[in-house]
Amino acid sequence: MENFDALQTQVDQAQRIVFLTGAGVSTPSGIPDYRSKAGLYTNGHTNRPTEYYLSHDCLVDEPKVFYQFVMKNLYYPDAQPNVIQKKQAAFTNANRAEIVTQNIDNLYEQAGATHLHEFHGNLYRIYCQKCGMEVDYPTYAHSMYHELDGGILRPDVVLYGEGIDQEVAQASVNAVHNADLILIVGTSMRVYPFAGLLDYRQPHVPVVVINQERLDIPGVTAQYQLNATEVFDRLQVKENS
Ligand SMILES: [Zn+2]
Repeated sequence: MENFDALQTQVDQAQRIVFLTGAGVSTPSGIPDYRSKAGLYTNGHTNRPTEYYLSHDCLVDEPKVFYQFVMKNLYYPDAQPNVIQKKQAAFTNANRAEIVTQNIDNLYEQAGATHLHEFHGNLYRIYCQKCGMEVDYPTYAHSMYHELDGGILRPDVVLYGEGIDQEVAQASVNAVHNADLILIVGTSMRVYPFAGLLDYRQPHVPVVVINQERLDIPGVTAQYQLNATEVFDRLQVKENS
């Protein structure tokens, strides 16, 4: 694999890696990138952009439509973490890295990641909007209503029209600010405010992209146009000395 040794060396020398990740990390687990499937969702009636079905407006105005959409298109309860998530989790467990992800699929949790910042929330944290009680996924899959009080359940994810959780945002900013190596994996860094996290890095900190397609991001110091699954399969996690 071309350039792999240089990448391994760079990773070995870093003490505080930050992985900035997105949908491309979960596609090997069989979870499609909904952003790349624009126009797929017609839902049998009015043709609306995907963004509408994942919006605060849809949740409030047409909660059944919202529920049907997320159940049909976002939940993959049988998906398993792949080698990218597992290896990145191993880096966090060795206190070598933090993960800031746009993914909401719970696969990093399943992989045992620590130092994990889920920028857009997590589909499997589900709560009642009336009483705040959390319920599990099978309960939500069974009904969109909380059986105790009839409140409408929702996943704890950031919908269009909603803001990023301030604690998560601050923790993500801190992680990037403290990083001595930033690895961008499986995201084209086009969605804000996530993409803006890069602005908080220290000057001179290397920003490395691992992506088969070349990305045009300012400040990138190296691009490895390699398959991320192969890279993380091979990448070794050295313990901090
Ligand atoms: Zn309730």
